[in-house]
Amino acid sequence: MPPYGYEGVATPAISRLAREGIRFESAFSPVPLTLPAHSSAFTGLQPFRHGVRDNGGFYLNPERTTLASILKGSGFRTAAFVSAFVLDSRWGLSKGFDHYFDDFTISAGDLAAMARVQRTAGETWSRARQWLEQQADGRFFVWLHLFDPHAPYAAPEPFRARYADRPYDGEIAYSDSIIGEALGFLESRKTLDDTLVVVLSDHGEGLGDHGEAEHGLFAYDSTLRVPWIIRLPAGERSGTVVDRLVSLVDVTPTVLGLLGIVPPAGLDGVDLAPLVTGTGTLPRDELYAETYYPRLRFNWSELVSVRNQHYKFIRAPRPELYDYRTDPGELRNIADSQPALVSNLTQILNRMAAAAGDAPIARGLDPDAARRLGSLGYVGGGAPPAGRATGPLADPKDKAETYHALARARQMLEQRSDRAGVAALEAIVAGDPDLEPARRLLREYWLQRGEIRRGLDWFTKAAARSPGSVPMLIELGTFELAANAPGRAAAAFDQALALAPGSVEALTGAARSAAASGQPERALELFRKAASESTDLTPRMHLAEMLIKTARLGEAEGVLTTALAEDARLAGAHYLLAQIAEQRRDAARAEREYRLERGIAPWDYRAAFNLAAIVGARKDHRDQVALLESIPPVAPDFADVFFYLAKALLDLGDRSRFPEAAAAARKGLSLAPASPSAPLGHYVLADLYMLEGKQAEAQRQLRLGQQLENRRR
Ligand SMILES: [Zn+2]
Repeated sequence: MPPYGYEGVATPAISRLAREGIRFESAFSPVPLTLPAHSSAFTGLQPFRHGVRDNGGFYLNPERTTLASILKGSGFRTAAFVSAFVLDSRWGLSKGFDHYFDDFTISAGDLAAMARVQRTAGETWSRARQWLEQQADGRFFVWLHLFDPHAPYAAPEPFRARYADRPYDGEIAYSDSIIGEALGFLESRKTLDDTLVVVLSDHGEGLGDHGEAEHGLFAYDSTLRVPWIIRLPAGERSGTVVDRLVSLVDVTPTVLGLLGIVPPAGLDGVDLAPLVTGTGTLPRDELYAETYYPRLRFNWSELVSVRNQHYKFIRAPRPELYDYRTDPGELRNIADSQPALVSNLTQILNRMAAAAGDAPIARGLDPDAARRLGSLGYVGGGAPPAGRATGPLADPKDKAETYHALARARQMLEQRSDRAGVAALEAIVAGDPDLEPARRLLREYWLQRGEIRRGLDWFTKAAARSPGSVPMLIELGTFELAANAPGRAAAAFDQALALAPGSVEALTGAARSAAASGQPERALELFRKAASESTDLTPRMHLAEMLIKTARLGEAEGVLTTALAEDARLAGAHYLLAQIAEQRRDAARAEREYRLERGIAPWDYRAAFNLAAIVGARKDHRDQVALLESIPPVAPDFADVFFYLAKALLDLGDRSRFPEAAAAARKGLSLAPASPSAPLGHYVLADLYMLEGKQAEAQRQLRLGQQLENRRR
């Protein structure tokens, strides 16, 4: 944007802040991903200290002190307004905020594209404005988070038309207009000159630089360099430009320093207040940055970098060194000609990251695990087990083309160009069978559409073409299983196990095949082996399910309890504990467990549905209705819920809601006329007609319901 030298976009509000404030010329994010970068800004810690390495599957430890919690302790009222599900309170950033506006409804289908769940800057600002209007005197801290300049780029008018050929710029211009509204609001309340305003970004977008369209895959400055501007009260020191190396980890200590609050000890960030007020210097020479996204998502190498005032080193299978002051585009890798510099920066990096420990593992709400447990129940999938590399990991630089081919295929499917999307995926999987996310996309495409035969044919040929390929054999087994051929599935998984005896996916598949062939004991043995082979908790969930199926409730409970001790937010565990309680006829315990599950995985409708049955049984129809009403937004394909909702609305006995009961019954009947629950829809309608005295209509519905039941018998 203009304060940083790009004139292609108009940002009058941010430009004004730069004029009236202090601008950091060389500000960098420690990680080019939304949740990890915000975690650093709000804790003053590097990613390896706060532990949030990716969006989803990582949580900010609730023990951490945050900027909000310190300010709250200092008497500020605190409120946050966020625009994206990746910053939902469930990930832990809400600590210290009196009010945290997130409020995202997310379905299982959305999880795969979590970063797409967002709202516009205008919507978020309107909520922040409402909150601010209610504040009388006293100090406040507001975090207003705007997400628009992330893909997909679709700014509202007039910005969309104005920047038709540069939609990313359009989103920046739109966001700037909302920042302008916020500043105007503070001015109209005569508080702007009593307020410390801090504007910054969590990361950038590649927009094609280095072959990266978005962010996260690489650690170049196209995504790591960020704007950071501070406007002091009354515009003190206006127009100052600070060109020292600063990082988002400095945000918390700096804001505290400017407010006269002593920052906590042990932060990675430093208090820049002396630089900002022109009274001191910067006690630091190097900056750290990382991205574990390639490792966590694709099992490619992570990228870790350190920079000093002139040079930037990126640790990678093929290391990179740039003189970024003269080569800001990082186009000339000078690592080979500067071995002394490389060795020096490597040592600094090792010192910095000494506390980092082992490679991180995503936990808990692994979206794929949640999804698999939530609805589909078929074998395989999940992210490759991170941190258990079997050989040298690929350099993300060598995978940029694959990465973009996958992104394009995904986009084609999103835009309903199915034929082209599937063909693209087939090509990617054939060329790189180890790339699990591509296999998963292809597998789920066929499984979700019931195109089992097609998937089976393709993977049969693929496995024949790549003899000895464990991934292809696992996919083949998965489709044999989906085609109700557990014997043939077992053969495929056994072949995979002969090649890779410890493969958790193959063990899990073999276990499922055994269960499907009526060999529960053999299945149990294989599930036990899978669980013992993996640090991931998903295999233990499968084991617990099988233990429940074979009536070993006590042991299942033990497995789930230990898994929850390792990860209190493990999706699906409380659901299974509730199932155990139901089998033991302990409704109170089941209810507690279902409620815990709902807090962790609100997109998994089964907990709400089973809970509704429990509260209905004790005649709490109001709660029952509320629970059932919460289901359609997260499970749009689960039509049966309307029959139960209709019945619950009828049982509620509130005449004013009978029309809703009738509407729900009709909706269910139109969506799923042949469902096993459909007779219930007819019976509810019959009862409602009866109450209205419409005997003939009631009889007709009764007959329709009975006919349906007879046909099913
Ligand atoms: Zn972001």
